[in-house]
Amino acid sequence: MKKPDGRLWAEQAALWLYPRRCPFCNVILGRDALAGAVCPACAAEEQRLAHEPPRVPETEHVLYALNGALAAYYYEGMVREAILLCKRGGHPWYARELADRMAVRIWGAVPASRPGLRPQDVLFENLPAYQCIVPVPPHQPTPGTPGLPLLLARRLGILFQIPVCQTLCVTRESAAQKSLSRVERLRNAKKAYRCKTGADLSGKRVLLVDDIITTGATISSCALALLEAGAVEVTAAAIAVDEDMPKEKQKPTEKDR
Ligand SMILES: [Zn+2]
Repeated sequence: MKKPDGRLWAEQAALWLYPRRCPFCNVILGRDALAGAVCPACAAEEQRLAHEPPRVPETEHVLYALNGALAAYYYEGMVREAILLCKRGGHPWYARELADRMAVRIWGAVPASRPGLRPQDVLFENLPAYQCIVPVPPHQPTPGTPGLPLLLARRLGILFQIPVCQTLCVTRESAAQKSLSRVERLRNAKKAYRCKTGADLSGKRVLLVDDIITTGATISSCALALLEAGAVEVTAAAIAVDEDMPKEKQKPTEKDR
């Protein structure tokens, strides 16, 4: 039997003061929200942008030191907007809804029945026995804000009841990845992360959490550092992956109509 969780009561109380909002368009979510996390107006587009299956293909990304990489969505349209809003610190509360969608889309959790509740009953065959969740640390931390990967990791930690370990740090000042070309990103990310002194992940299966997977260079570099600290297995998960969408998911252009 699960232990009673005081935090759940606190979440319910907070809901009266701060109603949950759709992470894609900011409207207040009602009882008709999809999975308690997406407003009806955004539901079809949310489904179109879903990365199905969640496993990120190794052929399109540079993945090493990883057991695999998973993403809930393609980094397009309203998903991209929602991530950028969270990253700029404007709407950090979206992180909770986005993490809940990750739990449902990636690991098959049963969606919440209404806003403010948590997804439940993650199928254990889909959820390997991760023993800790490690967020990718920010290259340029914004003072006073925890950063999107940490917010996602905290929420997933609550859902899966796994501790969050802020084990990784950036080794040196390196340029922000977004301004770089693919080759530059790979070079920049290599050895850009390390585990903090004294970190011991001996024998642990680690879930590494980031917001976006682009080339795969960042998560791979982080995974290597985690393996060097003793982890036996690292799986990465992100809200979205930057990848060409399959044709059937692409929006028809004017020419196709
Ligand atoms: Zn919406």
